Order: sequence, then C-alpha cells, then structure tokens
Amino acid sequence: MPELSPPTNSRTGLATYLLDQGLVSKQVLDAALAEQHITGEAVGTILVRNGYLARGDLHHAERTEDFADSIPEAAAATSIPIELLERFSIIVSQESATEIYISTLIDEAVVRALVEPYCLGKQIRFVNFVPDQFELFLDTITREQRGPVKRKDIDQLLFAAINKGASDIHIVPRPMSCSILFRMLGVRRLMYDISLDQYQTVISQIKDRASLDLAERRLPQDGRFEVKLQGRSVDLRVATVPSIDGEIAVIRILDAEQVAPVLDRLGLTGVAEWRESVNLQNGLCLVCGPTGSGKTTTLNATLREMDRLGKAVYSIEDPVEYRVSYTGQVNVNPAIKLDFAQTVRAFMRADPDVIVLGEIRDEETAKIAVRAADTGHVVLATLHTGSIIGAIDRLRNLGVSPYDLSNQLRVVLVQSLLRTVCLACRGAGCVACHDLGYGARTAVSECAVFRDSTEVAAAARGERRWPTLFEDATNKYRAGITTAAELRRVFGSAADGVIGPGGAVTPRGARA
Ligand SMILES: [Zn+2]
Repeated sequence: MPELSPPTNSRTGLATYLLDQGLVSKQVLDAALAEQHITGEAVGTILVRNGYLARGDLHHAERTEDFADSIPEAAAATSIPIELLERFSIIVSQESATEIYISTLIDEAVVRALVEPYCLGKQIRFVNFVPDQFELFLDTITREQRGPVKRKDIDQLLFAAINKGASDIHIVPRPMSCSILFRMLGVRRLMYDISLDQYQTVISQIKDRASLDLAERRLPQDGRFEVKLQGRSVDLRVATVPSIDGEIAVIRILDAEQVAPVLDRLGLTGVAEWRESVNLQNGLCLVCGPTGSGKTTTLNATLREMDRLGKAVYSIEDPVEYRVSYTGQVNVNPAIKLDFAQTVRAFMRADPDVIVLGEIRDEETAKIAVRAADTGHVVLATLHTGSIIGAIDRLRNLGVSPYDLSNQLRVVLVQSLLRTVCLACRGAGCVACHDLGYGARTAVSECAVFRDSTEVAAAARGERRWPTLFEDATNKYRAGITTAAELRRVFGSAADGVIGPGGAVTPRGARA
C-alpha cells in the first residue's frame, strides 16, 4: 500500500492566479493539486478535465500572466498552411470550434490579416510567444501536414465534424452513392456525397476503430472509440443499422470539454428556482422533455456546479455521456442485467447525498426514485413528458401515490431547444454559422417549485401558476432570438397563433 499523501501546498503561479481571480475555489484547487501529485500533469490540464475551468478561460489566464509552467498545446490539426506558420513565426496554441489562439513574433495586425482567411470565422486571440516552443510546434505540424502517413479518410471526416460543432455524423449508403450528413444544432444537413468505393473504406475504418465485427453486415452493432484532437480527447459512439442499401453508421460525438455546460448559460427560464430546489437536503427533482431536448445537458450542468467533494453524488445513465469528476457514474448494462433500479439500490447503501437516475421509465424506477427521495436523498431524474402537469400525471400513472408525490416532489423543469439566429449575419448565412443562419441553441422551459404538499395537489388538479414552455418560446421569438420558422419546426401548428399561418420566414440557408 503506497503512503497516502495529503494535498500538497506547493502552488504554482498559475494556481495562485486562478485562486486569486476566483476562477476556482481553494477546495477544488487543492483536489487538483493532489491529483497533480499523482499524475504529474499541469494543474490547468487537470482543472479543465475535471470540468472546473473552461479551456478558453485557462488560455486567457495563460495569456494574461506569463507563467513558466504553462505550455500551450500544439494545435497540430490547424487549417493554417505550414508555409505561413514557418515564414511568419506563428504558433497556434489552441483551436476550438469558435476560437483560435495564436502567438507570433511579428505585428499582430499583420498576422491577423494573414491567417484570417484560414480561420473560418473563428475569433482570433493572441497569446504570448514562447520561442522554445516554436521548434516543437513546427515539428509536430510538419508531421501532421506533410508527413509520409497521410491522415486517414475517417480522421478527416471526424475533424471536419468536430470543428463544425456537429453532434452526430450519419453515413448513409444509397444505391449509387453514399450521403454523409452532420447533425448541427439538432438538425441534419447533407455535407458530402461519396462514391460507394469510398463508403467501403470509411465504413471499414469506422467499424475497425470501434472494435466492431468487420464481417458482420446483417446485424446492428454498437461500439465506441476515442480520438485525440488538438490536445483533447473526444469520445465517439458508433451504431450501425443494416439497411437494404448497406450498413448505415451513425457516430455520436461526445466532446466533453466543448460542451462543459453552465446552468446559467443554457437559456433556461426558472433556473434560480431549479437551483434552489436541487440544493435542498432531500426530495425529487425532475427534468422533463422529449428526446433531444437537452435534459442530459441540464442534469450535467446541475452536477457540475454542485459541491461534488462535499456531497457524495452517484449517477446511473444509459450510457454515461459526459464525465463529471468526483461523482460515481455507472453505465446501465443489460448484458449483465445491471439496470436502473438495481443500481440505485446499490447507491443507497453507499452513503449518498445526491442520486441521479437517468430516466424514470416504468413503475419500478418511479418507485425506487420516490423511495430514495423519501430516505433523505436528493434524487434528480428525467421524465419523457412535455409539461409540468403532464409529469405529475405520468408519475401518478406509474403508481406513485398522491401522498408520496405531494411529499417528495420539489421541482419540475420542462424544456425544449430552439435554434437561435446567428449573431454574425442575423440569419442570412455566413462562415461563422456554416451557412445555417442559426448560431447556437437556447433552452426554452417552464419550471414549478413545490414548497408544500398543497401546491403539488393543486397542480395535480390542473391549477397552473407558472408561464408555459410555449409562452417562454414565444417571448424568445418576439425578442428576435429565434425565427418564426424555428418556432413552427418545434411547436408545429401551435405556433400559428403567434406568427400567423403564413408568417414563417426561413433565413437563407436555414433549413427548417
Ligand atoms: Zn451566420
């Protein structure tokens, strides 16, 4: 047994800076330093991985203060040509979907003009130039851009998708060719059409990387793999569907750092009420909405801002999409009959404070959720329903007694996602929004807090005292945040009352 070492107190300049600026708490920093003691990594890297610091904030801090212990990572996959980098002594230290961090020895304005055409509308930020790193950076980039081993087709595809902020890649063979579509901001878009020969190469590479059975083409398979890109690792889930035209492959991109969600930035209405309730000592807190409405993101953001060192947090998911440090996350595993109910019972024996139950889907999970709440735990769960009153009905139908419901239910948040008009082009279509006309997504929501059992009983009778999801969406439409077309895409004919049946104006390039 190795000797247990207490968290070290030897803080680097960066650590002190982050603490002084209030970017991390002392508790979180000490935990990261303890981890550094074991792994030997830079403290910034650990904080980013554990979800306490955005990569952008880390680079901002490194730019503000010239710390000896901070080493920019080589953004080896940059689209800026190597000739340019070499000739003008430019280092790309980080590149994300929206920002590119650059350092140079020459005039910043000159370099900005030179690299701008290659930056695809990303925000260019300058950081301090470290001469020692230039050689290393050039070495890496030479290998990437000129090396004897050409990047594989599949890598190019993944890089393009990740760079565009896509959430899924769909590879769909058809009789004469194969379509490759990216899902961006929740909507699929055709990106490439490739020959069937190219399709065979791509599908074999994907199946190989995901450790699927290459010879099996008639049964669906699923697997996962990881790619390293610009110094961060991206988790990929692969599912194949044996269609009559060949195997369809869908790759889900789980870019944990890119999406490190922050509760206040999701666009939720009622977030203060939600936050207050999940920080109580016990009770049932529900996030509701259809598939793809951002429920998992909200749960994730909720966990991220909890005191995960002070509270024991456990979570069962199907599957775990994003790691949240210092929590016990468990994957449902039907192969060994590890299900939601069984796992929650195990959590309850493991001294928990907070239990996250992926989804209440049947009587068994509903009952176990209520029991966990009743025994003094905060239980967070999702429910597939479109309104607060619908959620109460659904729990009643799943056999939760009125008594348990009115005593345990603390808060219900119902949400959906709407694409927001691109701020750069106001919906006209530009490089920043990949010609979509939409730049991001915002949550729309309705939220109700239940302070005592009479409030639950009133809601169960259909008494509503909160603005609805649709009212929230209407407000966002009237404020110019989203479009009439988007309102109609998400709410169907219900939107007619607000925009009129002919009132939908689709931004150029934006597909409804
Ligand atoms: Zn735009």
